[in-house]
Parts: sequence; structure tokens; C-alpha cells
Amino acid sequence: MSHATVLPEAFCQQMSQLLGAEEAQSLCACLEQPAPTSIRLNRHKYIPAKIVPSDLEQVPWCSWGYYIPERPTFTGDAAFHGGVYYVQEASSMLLYQIGQLLDSSAPLVALDLCAAPGGKSTLLLDLLPEGSLLVANEVVPQRAHILVENLQKWGNPMHITTSTLPERLGKLQGAFDLILVDAPCSGEGMFRKDLGARNQWQPSSPKVCAERQRTILADIWPALEDGGLLVYSTCTMNRQENEDIVAYLVDELEAEPIDLGEIGHGVWRSTLSDYPCYRMLPHRAKGEGLFMAVLRKGGECTIRGDRSKSKKGKDKQGRTSKDLPQEVKGWVDATKTKLLWEADQGRIVAYPEALAPMLELLREVKVSPMSYGIPAAEVKGKSVLPLAPLALSNLLAGHAFERVELPDDQLIPYLSREAITLPSSLSTGIKLICYGGIPLGFAKHLGNRTNNLYPTHWRIRHREQVERLQAEQEEYW
Ligand code: SAM
Repeated sequence: MSHATVLPEAFCQQMSQLLGAEEAQSLCACLEQPAPTSIRLNRHKYIPAKIVPSDLEQVPWCSWGYYIPERPTFTGDAAFHGGVYYVQEASSMLLYQIGQLLDSSAPLVALDLCAAPGGKSTLLLDLLPEGSLLVANEVVPQRAHILVENLQKWGNPMHITTSTLPERLGKLQGAFDLILVDAPCSGEGMFRKDLGARNQWQPSSPKVCAERQRTILADIWPALEDGGLLVYSTCTMNRQENEDIVAYLVDELEAEPIDLGEIGHGVWRSTLSDYPCYRMLPHRAKGEGLFMAVLRKGGECTIRGDRSKSKKGKDKQGRTSKDLPQEVKGWVDATKTKLLWEADQGRIVAYPEALAPMLELLREVKVSPMSYGIPAAEVKGKSVLPLAPLALSNLLAGHAFERVELPDDQLIPYLSREAITLPSSLSTGIKLICYGGIPLGFAKHLGNRTNNLYPTHWRIRHREQVERLQAEQEEYW
């Protein structure tokens, strides 16, 4: 990779003041080297052996992360489209380390406040104790769509995606046991991967961003339960947006910093603060620049598993439609979790009962979810068609649909939502379309032709679009 755009001079000076001249020089030299590429595997999906050859290097601070030797193209990669892995920058996987604070028998109600495109939300869904639910919020509506898509493809139905302001979610007093604020920042940690970040940076950026970060944190603070955990992270390297923000949380919001101990592998337990803070610096650890700190809200610690699910809102039943087509119920595996159903304008959603109190709370503060649970089916005239998120869901009933393996030459046409050809000997009806054993979506086979049911908004139009999708996954990590 050639870097035509030089590092901002003021940034290098700032790093020199922060880290000392020698270390700043090592950092800046490292920022001119190629960035490693890494993926994180979906803990709940079938992983084809070829995705993780035995010699693949593991990300040392996250059991599910691997460096891949070169950046592949993702266009024809069924595993990418099937949510088998997420392209995530390795330092971002440091979030995995908060797992040591969680009690595996205590389901949590969590919020990822700044969630798009979904890297940390998908990690949280795999990390939180069984039965936990996640609200993934992205304030910018255009960015929220990719968040919805990435979460639906990840397949865990215990999530709700919203697109609203932090201050509105802040009205949900004490509703969350854990809040992640992966804050919008000046992006210095992206200077190696993203040359655009160098151009956008101004000497005033850290100050401007730090003000916004304090506002976001103050707005959302009331929504954290006493004893709950706040994870604060940025992908930038200056002190104002990092250690100084932790000091703000301690001094102004009376948060209590939590020590994760020495993590090793080049993860720096920052000495730039009196409080435990963690920094990933590219010349020390194999990843990009990142900051993370964990704090507890004062008050009695309740994040321990004795939290009643219905405590946070009235446990209202889903509005089960009387005319819910019976066959749809058989498409979802309700043996793992009790499900409720919602039918609205021909769209049928199945969702774990545990989401109901949070959906109710969100309605009370006038937040309409963009997506939740599993968008399972839609009624079109007399037919009921399954929706692709059901195909990728962990709750798809094993024998509900006949699985059909796509021949090699049909993968791209299928993902492009073009006409596909399946063997005419196949029985007619709805088929679960798979490639290499990975479910991708549905098709309706009519004998002499097949209707491709891959979602219009997921379809790949051309190679560049897949690269864009992949870049959006990576953009903010
Ligand atoms: N957590 C994401 C991930 O891992 O994929 C990356 C989040 S990115 C660092 C920060 C996000 O905050 C962006 O998606 C941005 O749109 C959003 N954002 C920008 N301004 C915001 C604000 N005032 N309040 C909340 N979120 C904001």
C-alpha cells in the first residue's frame, strides 16, 4: 500500500508529547506500513474448515479472531454473505476482554449506543451471557441500514436495532446493565488503514470530538442501572478523547473505573492516567489504534444474575395476530426459547419473549425499532413466503425446508437476485438455498423455473458493491 497522504504534522507532534519522541517515531513509522486484515468467527454458526486453516494466526486477545494473510475479495464468498464471519479490525476485538467481568449465568440487558456497522454489536451478541438481549442503536439513519443487515445475518434473534438520539434512550432510566459507547471520534487510530481519515483530521478535531463525547455520555448515563457497566472506546490516540474522558466520567458522573489486569500481547495498560485504561498502539500490538476503558456506575452492584427479566418494563405479550399463518410457526425452532409473534402489514416477525419488556419501554419513549428478533415471513396475496433473515437465523427449524446446494455457477446469480437454475427433477416448493453448507436465503422452485427470494436490499449488483459492504464493516470497526 502506498501512502500518498502524509501524516498530519500536528498529530505527530501531539504523539511526541504524549509518548515521547522515540516511541512517537516508532508509531508514525508503523503507520506507514500495511495494516493487517482480520476476521472474527460467528460463535453460533457452522464454520467450514477452509475458513480457518490450521496455520492461521489467532488474534491473541480474542478467541474468535484470526489474522488472514491477505485481503481476499468477498464477492463470491458465501461465508461472508451468510454471516459466518465478520471482517473486523483486530484491536476492536479487545472488547472480548470484558467477558471476564460477566457472570455466564446472568443474562443482561445491554445497549450498544453507537453501533453501525455492527462490529462490536456482533461481538457482544456472542460474548454476553446466554439469554441476554442487545439494543443496537445507530443515530445516523443511513448507517443504521447496514447495522440491521449485519445483525440479521449474524443470526442471533436477541437483538433490537434502533436509530435514535442518545438523549432519547437516556430517558430509559436504569434500563441497561451494560452500555457500550464506541464513540464517534477523530479517527487517529485509522490513519494506517484509511487515508481519508488523515485528510479529515484537523488539529482542533480532538477538542471538538471530546465535547461531543462528553455530551453523548452525559445523555446516556441515566439509562445505566446502578452497578451497571459502561464500556467506553474510541479509535483515536490523543489524550483528550481517551484518558481525559475517563477522568470526566469519574469526576463528573462518579463512575468507578474497573481494572481488567494486564492483558499482555502488546496491549498497553495506559500509564497516561491514574485510572485503568487500555490502549492498542499499532507499533506495540498487531492492530490499529484503539482505546478502551470499563467503568461501573456507583451504587449497589446488581449485575450478577438475580435481575428479573420483567423488571425493566411491563411484560407485555406480543400482539399475536389471529390470522398468523399456521405454517410459519413451524419454520422457527421454539424449543430453545419462548417466542412471540407480531404481524404487521403482511410482515411477520418472531421474537424471543425476553425482548417484549424492552420493546414496550422503547414504545413508551417513542422509539420504533428498525428491526428485532427474526423478520420471518411476508404474506403476498395468498402465499406466505419466508424471509432471508430466517434462513440465516439460529432459530430456523432444522427440517422446515428442503436444503438445496447451489452449483458453483449459480452462487453469484443467486446473490445478485437474478434468475437461477435448479435441477428440474427437484420437487416444487420453497427451498433453503445453501452454498458449501451455508444457508444464504430462500427460493421458490416451480419446476420449470425458480423464483429467487434473495432480498432486493441485500443483493450484490456488482463486485464493487460487495467491496463497499465489506469496507463498511471495516470502516469504523
Ligand atoms: N461500534 C461500531 C462498530 O464496531 O462497528 C462503530 C461505531 S463508530 C466508531 C461511531 C458511530 O457513532 C458512527 O456510526 C456514527 O454514525 C455514530 N455517531 C455519530 N455521531 C453521534 C452522536 N452524536 N451520538 C451517537 N452516535 C453518533
